[in-house]
This record gives sequence, C-alpha cells and structure tokens, in this order.
Amino acid sequence: MLLKDKVAIITGATRGIGRAIALRFAQEGCNIAFCGRSRSEQMIAVEQELQAFGIQAKGYAADVSHLESSQQFVNDAVADFGHIDILINNAGITDDAAIKRMTEAQWDNVLNNDLKSVFCMTKAVQPYMWKQGFGSIVNISSVVGIGGNVNQANYAAAKAGIIGFTKTAVKEMGARNIRINVVAPGFIATEMTGDVPEQLKTYWQTRIPLRRPGRPEEVANACLYYASELGSYNTGDVMHLCGGMEDA
Ligand code: NAP
Repeated sequence: MLLKDKVAIITGATRGIGRAIALRFAQEGCNIAFCGRSRSEQMIAVEQELQAFGIQAKGYAADVSHLESSQQFVNDAVADFGHIDILINNAGITDDAAIKRMTEAQWDNVLNNDLKSVFCMTKAVQPYMWKQGFGSIVNISSVVGIGGNVNQANYAAAKAGIIGFTKTAVKEMGARNIRINVVAPGFIATEMTGDVPEQLKTYWQTRIPLRRPGRPEEVANACLYYASELGSYNTGDVMHLCGGMEDA
C-alpha cells in the first residue's frame, strides 16, 4: 500500500474528481479528511464509501474560498486525525461567459473558488507541514489555464494563477521538504462537464488524439504518484493529463 496510515486532506470530494482521488487514496490505506460546502447527503455517502476501505474518513462542511473557513477545516481535521501528510487542492467551479458579457460577480466567483481557495488551504496547512518538515501538496489546475478557452477567461486566469502560485510556493517551502505539484487535466467526464453542449463535446473530442474524455480515476492516479513516495523528487511539476489535447 502506497499511503498506509497517511492522512490526506482533499477539498471538494463530494463528487467527481475529488471523490475519485479520495477513493483511490483510501484503497492505498490513506485516512481521508475531505470537504464540500455543506454536509449534504452526497458527503455522507462518500464518507461511508471511504470507511468501507477500513480507513478513517470524515467529511467537513467548509467553504475553501474563505481563509477563516479553510483554517477551521484544517484545524478540525488535525484535531480529529492527529496530523496531515497530504493536501489535494481540488475544489473548483465554472461560471462561463464571453468577456464582453462576463459580470464582475462571475469573475470574482471563479477567482475566489478556484484560485483564492488554493492560497487559503495552502496557508492553512503550511504551519503543520513546516513544523513536521514534510508534506505533499497537489493542486488541480486545467489545460484551460495553459491554452485558454472561449467563454472561460475567469476560469483560465484562475487555473493559470494556480501554476504561478505553485512555482512560488515550491521555492518558499522546498527547504522544509514540502513538495508541491500541479496536475492539469483536459476534458474529464464529471458533473462539471456534464452541462457542456453535445456539439462542443464532439468538437473537443476531435482535438483529443486519444479520442475520448479522461476518467476521474486517471486524474486520481496522477495525484497518487505525486502524493506518495513514488514522486519523492518531484516538485514544481505541471503534469498535462489530457490525452494529448492540442494547445495543452
Ligand atoms: P465537480 O464535479 O463540479 O465537483 C466540484 C467539487 O468541488 C464538489 O465536491 C464541490 O462540493 C466542491 N467545491 C466547489 N467549490 C467549493 C468551495 N468553495 N468549498 C468547498 N468545496 C467546494 O467538479 P470536477 O469536474 O470533479 O472538478 C474538480 C476539479 O478539477 C476542479 O478544480 C476543476 O476545475 C478541475 N478540472 C476539471 C476538469 C473536468 O473536465 N471535469 C478538467 C480540468 C480540471 P459541494 O458542491 O458539495 O460544495
């Protein structure tokens, strides 16, 4: 088992990619503290799925776009689990519009949920990881942050910002053996992409050399590499996980 008795904090694991990461890590013996914005039925269901692996798992209601809520989440998780080995910054949203129609609220909403959240959670775990002298953080960006995408200027800016933030955090925390890497997925089949019109999905699929969307489990495998000792000399990487998608 690659993560036996480790403790991972995973943001946004009530469904989609975050849930897949939590399940994959639990399969490797990892204890999981995860969050969503409310203690929903979905959260309770994921908690039960995780506990079935015989590990400790708990879902927390936390809004990671706010520093205070992020710090409360991390402090509660440390009180319940004892320490933190891994942080996966996965929570994110989209709120699409062309720049000429995008409102200030749409811009702020995506920047706060997708970029500020990474700052808030990293700042919240840093004192613990710094003190213990180790830790692995994986930030989920997107190929949209590398190549851009029509109607997603807010999302592209947030996901590109994650890369700049990571490169800086790597330089500030490397000496304390804290590794930070980025996984930038392409088109992954989840609820977030479920709303994309069929026509656009077909267009994207013609741009993917592997001719299919990615699976959340494939993103989870990349996170497992970086979170575990398999990736012990990796920090500051940006892994493009996109089936060879153009512009990525
Ligand atoms: P999803 O199915 O919509 O799930 C998003 C998760 O984030 C949910 O668990 C949601 O929980 C949580 N969340 C959102 N805002 C939050 C906040 N402020 N505080 C706490 N939790 C919050 O999305 P997904 O497709 O799995 O995407 C996961 C990540 O991968 C995102 O960062 C996304 O940008 C990135 N990504 C996705 C794709 C793709 O094709 N799907 C591609 C590239 C990158 P609640 O709703 O329960 O609060």
